[in-house]
Amino acid sequence: MTSTETRSEIGPEIASAIGEAEAANELMRLARQIKRANRLYHAEDAPEISDAEYDALVRRNAELELAFPHLARSDSPSNQVGHEVAGSPLSKVTHEVRMMSLDNAFTDEEVAEFVGRVRRFLSLSAEEPVAMTAEDKIDGLSCSLRYEKGRLVRAATRGDGMVGEDVTANVAHIADVVQELKGEDVPEVFEVRGEVYMEKAAFAALNEALMAEARAHAEARGEVFDEGKVRQFANPRNAAAGSLRQKDAAVTAKRPLRFWAHGWGAASHVPGASQHEVIRRIESWGLPVSPQFRLCHTLEEVLEAYRVIRDGRPGLPFEIDGVVYKVDRLDWQQRLGFVAKAPRWAMAHKFPAERAETVLESIDVQVGRTGKLTPVGRLKPVLVGGVTVTNVTLHNRDEIARLGVRPGDRVVLQRAGDVIPQVVDNLTRAEERAAFHFPDHCPECGSEAVAEEGEVDVRCTGGLICPAQRTERLKHFVSRGALDIDGLGERTIDEFFARGWLESPADIFRLRKRRDEILALDGWKDKSVDNLLAAVENKRAPDAARLLFGLGIRHVGAVTARDLMKRFETLPALRVLAEQAHAKEGEEAAALGSEAYAELVSIDGIGPAVVEALGDFFHEEHNRQVWDDLLSEVAPPPYVVETVESVVAGKTVVFTGKLETMSRDEAKAQAERLGAKAAGSISAKTDLLVAGPGAGSKLKKAAELGIEVIDEAGWAEIVRSAG
Ligand code: ZN
Repeated sequence: MTSTETRSEIGPEIASAIGEAEAANELMRLARQIKRANRLYHAEDAPEISDAEYDALVRRNAELELAFPHLARSDSPSNQVGHEVAGSPLSKVTHEVRMMSLDNAFTDEEVAEFVGRVRRFLSLSAEEPVAMTAEDKIDGLSCSLRYEKGRLVRAATRGDGMVGEDVTANVAHIADVVQELKGEDVPEVFEVRGEVYMEKAAFAALNEALMAEARAHAEARGEVFDEGKVRQFANPRNAAAGSLRQKDAAVTAKRPLRFWAHGWGAASHVPGASQHEVIRRIESWGLPVSPQFRLCHTLEEVLEAYRVIRDGRPGLPFEIDGVVYKVDRLDWQQRLGFVAKAPRWAMAHKFPAERAETVLESIDVQVGRTGKLTPVGRLKPVLVGGVTVTNVTLHNRDEIARLGVRPGDRVVLQRAGDVIPQVVDNLTRAEERAAFHFPDHCPECGSEAVAEEGEVDVRCTGGLICPAQRTERLKHFVSRGALDIDGLGERTIDEFFARGWLESPADIFRLRKRRDEILALDGWKDKSVDNLLAAVENKRAPDAARLLFGLGIRHVGAVTARDLMKRFETLPALRVLAEQAHAKEGEEAAALGSEAYAELVSIDGIGPAVVEALGDFFHEEHNRQVWDDLLSEVAPPPYVVETVESVVAGKTVVFTGKLETMSRDEAKAQAERLGAKAAGSISAKTDLLVAGPGAGSKLKKAAELGIEVIDEAGWAEIVRSAG
């Protein structure tokens, strides 16, 4: 069947390339990223990633789900179209017939495969023609118009495909949307599906007007006008969406929106036996359809239609991003049906990259939430692939060196269906000018910014003091694996931080002084404030390893933190040695031959990267302050690892597959408590493999090496017998 056939070849390859835990993690991350992208794109009309990047995330998710079917999440993005409309000021509309999305093709071969799949699914011979319609895919906002007895009764956005938003009052201002269907064979009930869009010229004029308005506003108030802060629409699609989805339809009325029809949903009867008949019928009732809509009888005609539409693209007054094909015969569409959220009888053939030249005006360096310094090129605005691009990521220091770009260079920009806009060439490279100097200090906090050996990313070492990183660090500090403070969720941290109550982790322990202020906030009651403060007080004597992990020092994960604490027992003892082992500028720590360094790297599980990261951390004055401040509020008891007698003491254990009664972290902690070492991969040193369902390559390897294998129940038995 359709997608499985092409994907099954990818599946096992991925399955052997990455482990299950890694896949589960990646699926979790993808679900979150895709959900966020959906929300920004559909609900806020402010996407952070390109359509192409989005497509890549969705494809990766589908591949992983195919390779690890049992890991597919209940909130899998594969089952969702668009976004939920919760929180929208517009009222909700449940679609009688779900609004679908389309699978994508990027090459002629993929289109041929699509036709081949249709043939196989319908058991057609190779000679039997599969007629398909082709039309340009306009980059707009999907909309469903419900007509009853020919009158428009409701208009709704796609939303998540099941539930959209009511935009009936808004579409009343779109001239293309007729209020009444006139002509032959108008069904009792008929839902027209189509696209609301904005033409390129209207989009540019709207952005100009927004800028002028902001300027006038600032001037009237005597404020300095900052062009960079004016919220403009990124592309015509976002402008259309933002204009349609207005609670006040009077705003929509001022925006020149257009509409065209490309399909239908619920219908009391369908006026035709083929896609093209019905589309022509809809057109006869007074609704526009694509002027380039056509019927193709062979694959050659389909691909020719693609080339014609692609080549005519620059001359169109609106943005298109591909060509949509649909199997023409409706009885075949019926038989082909759907898979996941897309029909098997339709396909979007996306356009390839577009290029443009412009001037790189300056290079700014931004600090991300993980401390990574990212250079961003500020460009003389240029239209590429239908989008005005003003900024482009230059990724990292190496990429700048590779391109040899400096402010003032003339560069070639590329925007493709499958990548974000990027600089692909520097046309003025040969001009003699100084190279761009990549900062060695964080532009946000002034801390040293360093790239570790073998890494291209330069990172701010300011960690807890760097404003760009602070909230993320605080969230990590209270997370389950670290201090595990109940009631201090991400949103609470954001809010407290914004109010200046949480400058550093120590401030968490001073929140009790703000009891009345917290109580005055929305959503807080006596009981919830008391619960939060009690949860904080409960961590005054935290586990030292968790506290160390919570500080978010690079390379110091939960396991490393435990390894370190097993050796040092107290945090001050660790600090003394870490500071002694720190390399001075221009020196290799190892070359110092310091005893402290040697002692640290001799600890089981601790390597040079950890030692250097610790040294860098304590080298920063800010970090020392944060540390001292925190230890004035909390007092971790000396760290003791209580091990018990067990049959696995001194042995190396590996966990693999899905564990059903405990998390991987818990399993590892159990192993440690039993005096065993939990390793991540199988080697000759492994003594025991604990394998849950879905254990793949590791099981095979264990068999080859003759390693004892037990299941989760067997492990539980060992844990129990150890007492
Ligand atoms: Zn910084």
